[in-house]
Amino acid sequence: MTAARTLFDKVWTAHEVVAETVDTPAILYIDLHLTHEVTSPQAFSTLKSLGLPVRRPDRTLATMDHSTPTSTEQVFGNVPIKVDAAAKQVRQLEQNAAEFGVELFGMRDARRGIVHVISPELGATQPGMTIVCGDSHTSTHGAFGALAFGIGSTEVGHVFATQSLLQRKPKTFAVNVGGHLSPGVTAKDLILSIIGKIGVSGGTGHVLEYRGAAIRALSMDERMTVCNMSIEAGARAGMIAPDDTTFAYLEGRPRAPQGADWDAAVARWRTLVTDAGASFDASVDIDASLIEPMITYGTNPGMVVPIGGAIPDKRGDEVFGKALDYMGFHGGEAMLGKKVDVVFIGSCTNGRLEDLKAAAQILKGRKIAPGVRLLIVPGSQEIKRAAEAAGYADIFKAAGADWRESGCSMCLGMNGDTVAAGEYSISTSNRNFEGRQGVGARTLLVSPLTAAASAVKGLIADPRELMQ
Ligand code: SF4
Repeated sequence: MTAARTLFDKVWTAHEVVAETVDTPAILYIDLHLTHEVTSPQAFSTLKSLGLPVRRPDRTLATMDHSTPTSTEQVFGNVPIKVDAAAKQVRQLEQNAAEFGVELFGMRDARRGIVHVISPELGATQPGMTIVCGDSHTSTHGAFGALAFGIGSTEVGHVFATQSLLQRKPKTFAVNVGGHLSPGVTAKDLILSIIGKIGVSGGTGHVLEYRGAAIRALSMDERMTVCNMSIEAGARAGMIAPDDTTFAYLEGRPRAPQGADWDAAVARWRTLVTDAGASFDASVDIDASLIEPMITYGTNPGMVVPIGGAIPDKRGDEVFGKALDYMGFHGGEAMLGKKVDVVFIGSCTNGRLEDLKAAAQILKGRKIAPGVRLLIVPGSQEIKRAAEAAGYADIFKAAGADWRESGCSMCLGMNGDTVAAGEYSISTSNRNFEGRQGVGARTLLVSPLTAAASAVKGLIADPRELMQ
């Protein structure tokens, strides 16, 4: 009889070319390598200097997202890309993709978007795969039961050349989420709450498996939001076992298996569950019913409180004090009612159609507060078209929002969409580190509902007040 195994163990073992030893890491086969303009130039240069090809172009997919502008004039008009470094990266990826035979969704491609949004959208992300990308939030794809994680530029070159990766085997961590989320409480609040509970290094060296009734009840968009931020808990990756929700999402997508191959794939994917009796190296239990809308107040995603809560008072903690100084906050202050300058709704965490629908629900028939700038950026061009067809874009524009082309935008301040020094940005992205959205920018992470409600009020607001 074979021993009970976790979902992670099953995927890892199926891809282990050579097992690790005390002295050497394992060699892991990679099914899908996603790449973009920021972490690929150095890797392509390495290939050129060694005279090597990309070993499996058919398992490599490139897009442009991090440094691409989101203004329609720069993407589809004749206005040149304003950020010089971004323009150079875009040109370099076009040249490298052509030279190495890698499929690229270029600037004006209807399938372009954030790398972690378009791969699931295409059906390229599938259960049981190993997926890597030179971006930390590759963990997003774990929502499909894939083992997916971010890699550095040197490793990008290694995967280009060998379609494999040297890896130490991580430990396993069960995140058991019972109960159900209350109205106005979203998957973003759930993952912020989990990070608040286990801490920003609580998952270090582990792969998280999100389990339990509250996880099973989530849509695929919501599962992607949860897995996306696994890295913010320090974890190598996050995974959710595939089920009927996963299969319904994937069926009929352009790169999903079709016909008899589809039936065979689903039969195989159904085995990708943690066996009864399998043990994890660590675990935590969460009651989803107790979670409130959450908001960060500091400079890492673990510095988070329920929206009606107050900033903890930790006098004497130098690191904590430095974070509050950067944010211009003090221990003991309430979060509700604080000033808002900029609101950003987008990113690979919350730039999907359901996120935009949630924002539209709050913004419909309302205007944003005077003095507030609201930027809404779809995760992909496909989502942009869907949001326009559903009428969300009209709602956003009528409310006073700036509606853009897809891209990473304000998730990171490298594409021209930035927050000014000292400004407070209510953001649906995933990182609130110092300077992440621009030099001196102060980022507060929230759900799309909370972001939209705060834009309307011009202050940090509880979305439930606008949902009655
Ligand atoms: S939206 Fe942010 S986290 Fe996601 S891929 Fe872009 S830069 Fe990375």
